[in-house]
Amino acid sequence: MKLVTRAQWGARAYRTPNGATPYGRARKGVKVHYLGAPYKDRAHDKCAAYVRSLQASHMDDNGWSDIGYSFVVCTHGYSFEGRGLKRRNSANGNTTLNDENYAVCALVGSSGLTTPTDPQLNGIRDTIEYCREKGPAGDWLGGHRDGYATTCPGAALYAWVQEGAPRPNGSTTPEEDDPMAAITKTDIFNAVWKTDGLAAPADAADVKTNPNWQPQSILRDIQARVRANAAVEAGQSAAIARLAQLVGSGVDTTAVVAAVQQAITDAVIKVDVDINGASA
Ligand SMILES: [Zn+2]
Ligand SMILES: [Zn+2]
Repeated sequence: MKLVTRAQWGARAYRTPNGATPYGRARKGVKVHYLGAPYKDRAHDKCAAYVRSLQASHMDDNGWSDIGYSFVVCTHGYSFEGRGLKRRNSANGNTTLNDENYAVCALVGSSGLTTPTDPQLNGIRDTIEYCREKGPAGDWLGGHRDGYATTCPGAALYAWVQEGAPRPNGSTTPEEDDPMAAITKTDIFNAVWKTDGLAAPADAADVKTNPNWQPQSILRDIQARVRANAAVEAGQSAAIARLAQLVGSGVDTTAVVAAVQQAITDAVIKVDVDINGASA
């Protein structure tokens, strides 16, 4: 669940004493709401400001002690903490209804953006499960309109709620999002190095026993070897060219041998520099 705490979205402090009254009893379930006003989708970095404006409207226009909802879910799937799990909401219509169920509002409008996005449906689902596990809340699930005269939460959201708030096609629960999450470095080491019996990279003598070795090290090692080979070939070419020059000018054997030795020494130094340079 992508929870945005009150501190993170910059909530104003709720009014006391009413806003601070704890209500920790178990709820029957969760009621889903929409904004019931025009809403235009926006970039996520604008969502916190929108939630702050909702809170201001509930406190300054409605005279409530805080934002009315327990949670607010944006189109990007983030769940903004409103009254949260331990305080009674003021969005369901009356005190009995507020006691009975958590109030989760989607940033979906009565015009403009009227259909929830897939990330948003996942975010609402995450929030419902969070309320059930941590509230606690029972399995009952409905819309604001259940037992109260309102069109909230709009046609699209209400149809989804009546289906039991399923996750959108193709999405999984958050724990299953990353198939690599359960794979350890030791698994990778065993799969890459032990199983295939690859030669250890030149700069890691302990790789055979080092489970922290990464698969990308193969690329680094191959790169180092390719560069080393290129350096040796360049050294050989230089030696042959120098040799041809000296033979053509009639120089004695000692000078030829010295020139070849020098070219080989240069090539070895260059290989050393390349390997260390590549693995730094
Ligand atoms: Zn509502
Ligand atoms: Zn957002």
